[in-house]
Amino acid sequence: MEQRALELPCPQMVIGGSRLDAQSGATIGVEDPSNGTILTQVPEGSAADVDHAVKVARAAFDSPSWSRMRPLDRGKILESIARLIEANAEQLALIESYDNGKSYTHALAFDIPAAVDTFRYYAGTCARIEGKVNPISADGRQYHSYTKHEPIGVVGSIVPWNFPIVMAAMKIAPALAAGCAIILKPSEVTPLTALRLAELVLEAGLPEGILNVVTGYGHIVGQAMVDHPGINKIAFTGSTRVGKSILRSAAETVKPVTLELGGKSPSLIFADANIDAAGIGAALAIFFNSGQVCVAASRLYVEESIFDDVLAAVVKAAESFPIGDGRDANTMIGPLVSHAQQERVLGYIDAGVKEGGQVLTGGKKRGETGYYVEPTVFINTKPDAKIVREEIFGPVLVATPFKDVEDVIAEANDTNYGLAANIWTRDLSRAHLTAARLQAGTVWINSHAIIDPAAAFGGYKESGLGREMSDEGLHAYTQSKTVTAFLGD
Ligand code: NAP
Ligand code: MG
Repeated sequence: MEQRALELPCPQMVIGGSRLDAQSGATIGVEDPSNGTILTQVPEGSAADVDHAVKVARAAFDSPSWSRMRPLDRGKILESIARLIEANAEQLALIESYDNGKSYTHALAFDIPAAVDTFRYYAGTCARIEGKVNPISADGRQYHSYTKHEPIGVVGSIVPWNFPIVMAAMKIAPALAAGCAIILKPSEVTPLTALRLAELVLEAGLPEGILNVVTGYGHIVGQAMVDHPGINKIAFTGSTRVGKSILRSAAETVKPVTLELGGKSPSLIFADANIDAAGIGAALAIFFNSGQVCVAASRLYVEESIFDDVLAAVVKAAESFPIGDGRDANTMIGPLVSHAQQERVLGYIDAGVKEGGQVLTGGKKRGETGYYVEPTVFINTKPDAKIVREEIFGPVLVATPFKDVEDVIAEANDTNYGLAANIWTRDLSRAHLTAARLQAGTVWINSHAIIDPAAAFGGYKESGLGREMSDEGLHAYTQSKTVTAFLGD
């Protein structure tokens, strides 16, 4: 493929209209996971930088240029952001590929359009945040009572590294639509598209200080955001472990939080399914983005009579996916995001083997440079094995045969997680009846990972709290106020 020139964004935090270094002057190296090269340094923020950003965001939130902006004009800015992301799609996709390791082609085909769609969808919601008139009885006298939805204030958004620009868009767009101001902390592993996005939103006409990006480590910058009394809400996407700790910390300031957390999602393939489609579908459901997907279907349950056929199709697909540098147009499986993540995934594969699992394909790292791990399929795992129970966040699938629908629903639900599931069958009644019984925030039938801003997204059980996208996601950035006026006897 013709090599495009990488243009990195200004490697400084964006607070108000200023590009700033950390007050401490410290920096963090940002790595290309395909070869370990350091691409640039970004500021290592601290609580002092968060405090500064909160003051700037609060002033911007209160200023008439934002708080009195006509809702349709807010919508126009969101639409301009969508257009600017579209206009810069190739550059953003290339930054994402270098920063995260993912395929440039995939970033251009999926990540960037998903970010565009999210801004475009929420552009249309700004002037549709409606309240209601309350038909109160009270003491029988005359009142006019109404409830309206106000922006919640300054929002702290904390996002992970697997889909950096998509996650940032999912946080920023509904918060802007609601009229909030935002402090965004990208993962320190992948901060670059967030910094570019902060430039684009200013170009789109968003008032300075409404979107601020503070870079740095989660346990420092993220924690300071959660603890800060001037931040009115935390929107977090990341691991269940960190989500739980955020929920505990947020209790101190009684801060509302939305949590989009980890998963161990199941694929259920019934004997009447289209086996070819289900086989490739199940393979993509785990191996896309090298398995670093919150909704990755990492547990595969196949009806006994077709188990061998489906596994053959999954293994064939896994072995056909080209592994390589994200800039190579053929690459299907890029490196994992970091050396630490590679070690973690290889540790799980070792544990799987030690606990008696059998590797059908993969199981090893690939190459000496870059953080590659082969797509790996396990069979004969025990239900309590670590690799069956814990989120691996890498290209590792465990496959198990099932007898009947009761058997597979029990197995699918036997997890602390509940983010997503998929079902492959031609029997429409069974598909919907099974979907109703799965404990998951999203269920796909004969498909996987169809995520859209019009559809609410979030987790059951330890996979999360609250919903993003759709009107539910918008209302997560508002709080209601009831106003009741006495009109006379
Ligand atoms: P993570 O370690 O939980 O980190 C997520 C974000 O939180 C990062 O920006 C991180 O900063 C920050 N953070 C870490 N400790 C913090 C603290 N004490 N207070 C506040 N913020 C803190 O997760 P990750 O490894 O980046 O991402 C993988 C996880 O995200 C997986 O579990 C995956 O399932 C989940 N995920 C869920 C969804 C969903 O929608 N449900 C989507 C994508 C990913 P640092 O990077 O500096 O540590
Ligand atoms: Mg990186």
